[in-house]
Amino acid sequence: MKRILCAVVFSLAASPASAQPADVGDFVRRHQGEIVREFLELVAIPNHRADLPSIKRNAELLRQMLERRGMKPEVWETPTAPLVYGERLVPGATRTILFYIHFDGQPVDKANWKQDDPFKPVVRAGSLEEGAPIVTDVATRESFPDHFRVYARSAGDDKGPIQAFVSAMDAIGGKPAQNIKVILHGEEEGGGPSLDHVIKNHADKLRSDVLIILDGPQHPSDKPTIYYGARGGAGLEVTVYTAKTGMHSGNYGNWLPDANVRLSQLISSMFTPTGTVAIDGFYDDVLPLPTAALQMFKEVPDVNDAMQKLYGVGSIDGAASSLQEGLNLPAFSVHMMKGGEVGGVIAASSTAEIALRLVKENSPRVMVDRIIAHIRKQGYFIVDKDPDTATLAAHPRIAKVTTRAGAVSGAWRTDPDLPAVTFIADAFRAKYGRGNFVRIRTLGGGIPAGPFINAFQVPVVGISLANYDDNQHTDNENLRLGHLWKGIDALAALMRYR
Ligand SMILES: [Zn+2]
Repeated sequence: MKRILCAVVFSLAASPASAQPADVGDFVRRHQGEIVREFLELVAIPNHRADLPSIKRNAELLRQMLERRGMKPEVWETPTAPLVYGERLVPGATRTILFYIHFDGQPVDKANWKQDDPFKPVVRAGSLEEGAPIVTDVATRESFPDHFRVYARSAGDDKGPIQAFVSAMDAIGGKPAQNIKVILHGEEEGGGPSLDHVIKNHADKLRSDVLIILDGPQHPSDKPTIYYGARGGAGLEVTVYTAKTGMHSGNYGNWLPDANVRLSQLISSMFTPTGTVAIDGFYDDVLPLPTAALQMFKEVPDVNDAMQKLYGVGSIDGAASSLQEGLNLPAFSVHMMKGGEVGGVIAASSTAEIALRLVKENSPRVMVDRIIAHIRKQGYFIVDKDPDTATLAAHPRIAKVTTRAGAVSGAWRTDPDLPAVTFIADAFRAKYGRGNFVRIRTLGGGIPAGPFINAFQVPVVGISLANYDDNQHTDNENLRLGHLWKGIDALAALMRYR
């Protein structure tokens, strides 16, 4: 399937409908060596947001990268991670685009990586899973075929898009058709106050007609992907108790209730047998889907069967009839359950970590309250800290419910027909042809557009460039270089689109 797609993209690249794309492809082919080497330097710097000295090194290198493109970079200090800003303003431009890309990454567990260090990038002639060998002449090689991959933390999420952005600027000779601004964020993963800080202190620079977020993997059909919204979230922890301590299962089995069983029963009461959430009001805020949204779902390539095979999913469930519809509903997942201890005792407490994925119409507070009301309806007395023995003895059923700080984020959605954003799909249509790119109404995970939307009421659209199998957030993260080459091409087309 991938081979056919490449052929299609190549032939379209030569089509007269597109705005001079052939020279971009040519530029990329001639400069693959230097693009890869610049990228390797970027992914070699550790980038967990708690490691501030490394975050600052990233910011300095990014400043230099924007400087090389004449983008008048500025490093904006904040109480936490610095951000890097750059711009290329064009006389007479009728549109200003602000690109948002983040340069921090998730923590790494070195032991699980199949290379010495996630920050000593490795280039492979294919994917690790297929046993592709390491490429040893990276320092001198000029050609990097599409199937080669760079393995390093943040290769896909989200330094690959930074490289695509700066190389696209090179490929168009630094001459966009519209004003281009870019903000590079150093604490996207897990959040932090720095974004709010710069929005407050540099509002004039950050104002734009549209915000384009470059983040997230492409749709599994491997086609360029535009998304018009993202879900938000909230997290909570539920612990049920049956005694102050675990008790011998021989001496007390058939007498002491098992906290693991109680918790399982409680969680089961929240679902129908087919996985629809049975908590009162859980889906009530979702508005009927407009016809245009249903049409958009239909146009997304159906990869259901292939995905089930790829991930060994024997059955699917939930409230929706398709994945796309499901991403436009709130979702409830139990990320982890833990209870019991060694020593042959009945569990006296058991905990579930619950994650809510919420759509734009949901209020996180209201959704959490609905869950608490459900737990209460099952006969539980609810506390917010560990109960003492007297409190335990006073209630037949008792549960502690706490919300996880930092787990609350806002959902957002942009109307794809808004005049300020239609040019993005138009540019992709001109470049790839109808049906050769994917439009997604709502991305399942969180994308922090909220601060921009609140401050500037700016329409937000996301574009995914990385391969869907990039292992983002986990071990052996990678970027397939064919996706980098195509990403450069796509961004160049967007920057030049009139
Ligand atoms: Zn990301």
